[in-house]
Amino acid sequence: MAHELVAVCDHCLELVQDGDGVLEVDTDAADRALRAWRETGSADYAVFHASAGTHPVQWAVRHHSCGKAPSFACTITVNRVRSWTALLDWSVHLSSKHWLAGTDWFDLIDRALHPRRAAVSGILPQSPRDTSRGSVGDLT
Ligand SMILES: [Zn+2]
Repeated sequence: MAHELVAVCDHCLELVQDGDGVLEVDTDAADRALRAWRETGSADYAVFHASAGTHPVQWAVRHHSCGKAPSFACTITVNRVRSWTALLDWSVHLSSKHWLAGTDWFDLIDRALHPRRAAVSGILPQSPRDTSRGSVGDLT
């Protein structure tokens, strides 16, 4: 069965098959980014991403054999993010994590939803959807 979403390694740009890699983020770096943000006097994480000078920590896709895992990471094996439903389910799960606001999780989803804006790696749709009739709330 074809998956709705594919994973492309950020290092070698090859597809990551089930069992061969992960989607992960450095949670310690996300904590540091948010701590630095708080030190500016801002407490509203909702505007963290929209503020100049902030650097959300990027989620990365990699083969186990490519790159190196952060010391403190949230790691999702690629076989667990193969559908839109799974991506939504992870969003609900991750929303309880205090460090999520310091990452680019929602940018990752945006790139998957709108592949024209996508990089060449990451979590991407198996088949780009037709966005000519609209975008938000118009998944086909
Ligand atoms: Zn790789």
